[in-house]
Amino acid sequence: MWDFSTEPEFEAQLAWMREFVEAEVAPLEILWPHHHHKVPPAWLKKVIDPLKEQVKERKLWACHLGPDLGGQGFGQVKLSLMNEILAPYQWGPTIFGVQGPDTGNAEVLAHYGTAEQKLRYLEPLLAGELFSAFSMTEPQGGADPTGFVCRAERDGDDWVLNGEKFFTSNSGEAAFLIVMAVTAPEAAPHKRMSMFLVPRETSGIETVRRTQYFLESEDAMDHALLRYNDVRVGPDGLLGEPGQGFEIAQTRLSGGRVHHAMRAVGQAQFAFDAACERVLTRHTKGKPLAAQQLVQQAITDSHAQIEQFRLFVLRTAWMIDQGKGYTHEIRRDIAVAKVLSARVAHDVIERAIHLHGALGLSNEMPFGPLWSLVPGYGTWDGPTEVHQSTAARLILRGHQPSPTEYPTRWLPPRIEAARAKHAEALAEEASEKTGATS
Ligand SMILES: Cc1cc2nc3c(=O)[nH]c(=O)nc-3n(C[C@H](O)[C@H](O)[C@H](O)COP(=O)(O)OP(=O)(O)OC[C@H]3O[C@@H](n4cnc5c(N)ncnc54)[C@H](O)[C@@H]3O)c2cc1C
Repeated sequence: MWDFSTEPEFEAQLAWMREFVEAEVAPLEILWPHHHHKVPPAWLKKVIDPLKEQVKERKLWACHLGPDLGGQGFGQVKLSLMNEILAPYQWGPTIFGVQGPDTGNAEVLAHYGTAEQKLRYLEPLLAGELFSAFSMTEPQGGADPTGFVCRAERDGDDWVLNGEKFFTSNSGEAAFLIVMAVTAPEAAPHKRMSMFLVPRETSGIETVRRTQYFLESEDAMDHALLRYNDVRVGPDGLLGEPGQGFEIAQTRLSGGRVHHAMRAVGQAQFAFDAACERVLTRHTKGKPLAAQQLVQQAITDSHAQIEQFRLFVLRTAWMIDQGKGYTHEIRRDIAVAKVLSARVAHDVIERAIHLHGALGLSNEMPFGPLWSLVPGYGTWDGPTEVHQSTAARLILRGHQPSPTEYPTRWLPPRIEAARAKHAEALAEEASEKTGATS
């Protein structure tokens, strides 16, 4: 049983959000597509601060943390519904204080941070005063964290970090980084690493390259290769306990994957709505495109994929809201949602672009940035294959091998058993047939 309806007051909030995002957020995307993850200059602050104020007044600001962690306590279902609305515009999450990678970083600070760490890092992060970065992936491997080598060693009370981290998003604008480093190389694979809070201005953090996503320009958010050269942090730089790095990373990524999945729903829906408008408007051979059967198939397939996917993500969000922790059913469905994000975004956005013809491929429509996100959905937060493996392992927990080498559904013994069970009726049936033919 599940129920993910929301109260009428929240429905009214979502309706307000839809209008606000179209009226106020969409223009920011057109004029300043690369400023959403930067501390704004004074002229831009004048534009965006009043918008953030409106969001705060409606109590829709930074809704990703529960009341126990200093947030509004919206839960995953409501947050998912909000993420769907914000998704088509990169500025959306920033204006509502729920932009990645800061939301995930805020979540782990709230869970594992000391009172001093929360005061220094979490509060300004939640207030939208600064940005942060998460530094986990390494050049020699990302999907398999057991292969990480970046080290943090004790020196008196301090920790000294050495090593490289790749694809640290927004490292150029971040005020601090959360860095995962090996502290106990001989320990069990998932106990080898710890998490550190490193102010960006700490000496020894070298930007080797400001790598960009696909064709994005130099002023867009970077995904940098960083080198940590004897970077020293005090004892207050350790987040959580030594050896807790892997657990913290999992906490961070689990909720984030649900948010990402619902963003994929929102982006697919955005493209799909445009496609529906187009097929009703554009004519070929004297009829609207919508009258062509293959176009009808594309519309129905996209609708079906979005609706199934949305329900799946909402059910996953609802299960998390039941507060039973990250059970194996939830971890299974988060992995499946991650796999579906890439597939549904791919299929629906591609159909929408295709139905727009050349216009869809041009920079006069907003599809280019959306399409470029599609392969990313299969990579960031772990590749599709890894999530397929995780999901399969968890799905198969609910199943047993056959007690013999033949499947339990193998028909020969079942036919024999069915015959033995109904031997009397079969005998009567046979004698009736014999009587009828003699
Ligand atoms: C836009 C963007 C932003 C990012 N931001 C951050 C960030 O802020 N911080 C951060 O730490 N990281 C970040 N990443 C990195 C991201 O988390 C990694 O890309 C991801 O974990 C995969 O690691 P990898 O790229 O090293 O791929 P690899 O581990 O090299 O995998 C490459 C491919 O190998 C195959 N493969 C790998 N493992 C398996 C397996 N077990 N089974 C089957 N096939 C497999 C898959 O096809 C996979 O796509 C970002 C990535 C992108 C694209």
